[in-house]
Amino acid sequence: TDDDAATIQILMSDTGGGHRASANALRDAFNVLHETDPMRFPLPIKCDIVDIYTDYGPFPFNMYVQAYKIMAEYTFLWKWFYETGATPFGLWLYDVVLELICFGPFKECMTRVDPNNVVSSPGGGGKRADMVVSVHPLCQDLPLKILTSLDTDGASRKVGRTTPFVTVVTDLGGAHPSWFNRGVDRCFVPSDVLKNAALDRNVDESKIVQYGLPIRRGFWRFGSEFDMSGSDGKEEKNERAKMNKPAMRERLGLSNLPTVLIVGGGDGMGGIVSQAKAVGERLQKLATSSSTSYQMVVVCGNNKAAQSSLSPPQMQWGADINVHVHGFVNNMDEFMRASDILVTKAGPGTIAEASICGLPCILSSFLPGQEEGNVPYVVDNGFGCYQGSPEGIADTVEEWFASTRAEGSMLERMQECALIAARPDATLDIAKDLAEMLYARREELKKAKKVSAAIAVAA
Ligand code: UDP
Repeated sequence: TDDDAATIQILMSDTGGGHRASANALRDAFNVLHETDPMRFPLPIKCDIVDIYTDYGPFPFNMYVQAYKIMAEYTFLWKWFYETGATPFGLWLYDVVLELICFGPFKECMTRVDPNNVVSSPGGGGKRADMVVSVHPLCQDLPLKILTSLDTDGASRKVGRTTPFVTVVTDLGGAHPSWFNRGVDRCFVPSDVLKNAALDRNVDESKIVQYGLPIRRGFWRFGSEFDMSGSDGKEEKNERAKMNKPAMRERLGLSNLPTVLIVGGGDGMGGIVSQAKAVGERLQKLATSSSTSYQMVVVCGNNKAAQSSLSPPQMQWGADINVHVHGFVNNMDEFMRASDILVTKAGPGTIAEASICGLPCILSSFLPGQEEGNVPYVVDNGFGCYQGSPEGIADTVEEWFASTRAEGSMLERMQECALIAARPDATLDIAKDLAEMLYARREELKKAKKVSAAIAVAA
């Protein structure tokens, strides 16, 4: 019926943690909009988030996630793959092969939405969603063609796509050309650089919207238009976002000391063991030579080997520093708000999150291609630098902490710069625009239905 929940299918693939994280963030944002402002957002929006390559792609397209993990380790492979794929020939070849092999299976995926029951009915047999959103660089061209073919056949005899299709770019300072297809209805980009990249690919300026990267709810602005207090523990979340550094440290069982946070990315990549050792040794040295003590938190993500080699009995840290080693944490917002310096690989999500928390960054590595541009993004916005070696990272930590004693310290300036670059409203802003597009589309459909009913009566 017309009052069904509206549906959005979000296409992605789990290459890196960021695409699913962004998709989940948008889903949460739709729920918050509907809960907190039902006048403006009256229809609930259900999201069907699908890794279309893993779940529907025939071999070798269903192997992307594994291949990505291998290539992220051996970056020369990734560099070759990325750069070949970015040439005009590479882009063309990919499209041709993908269409040949995946048109049918992807079409099945895009007709699996069941608005009345569960969101998806695996294996197709449902309908297409009211709107399709891509949060992945390889989910533009073919899905657009499929939607056009789906919208074209049927009783209406209308040619062309009517279901809205939107791209939400989840890279930050650089992006593969395949992100941009001029046929989309809207393209959300997080930065000036990516806006220009979209323009270079002939996306119409009127379709490009720049808010920021969609990221998890814990990083959304506190006290915004959509105050989240009220039900199921959300009030507590608000309280947490309000907390200052000492209170956040206490909550996490940390001491109230200058704190370095080392994060290894979702999969724990990026050499965190040697980085943590170098920083730990340096902090111990600093602590011995001054009256200050220091603290280091290492988040290893899913890298179990790194976690155990940094924990006792394998590792004994200096006596004058506090070290906490964790595996994957679900409260990254709290750890970031409790810290003074972040050491991380140049992942777009992590950088955007750090910026919101006013946390200066030392970038320790980047994937050639899409993460390369994240380094100038951080440097030009004045909230961090790149240091490829563990010793270089330790030097920078020492330098930044030393400067805190000076007036108008470097660390404070970088904290301010990070907050200026931050986009804590981006997720809700994107979700609002998408919801409005979706409601407008439903209204059009309703009107069209009424008109055809009237014509049928007249006939
Ligand atoms: N992350 C997390 N817990 C961990 C390690 C990482 O929640 O223990 C999150 C981190 O906050 C970020 C995401 O994982 O949101 C990593 O995304 P990013 O875009 O930085 O890198 P990707 O993994 O996509 O390459």
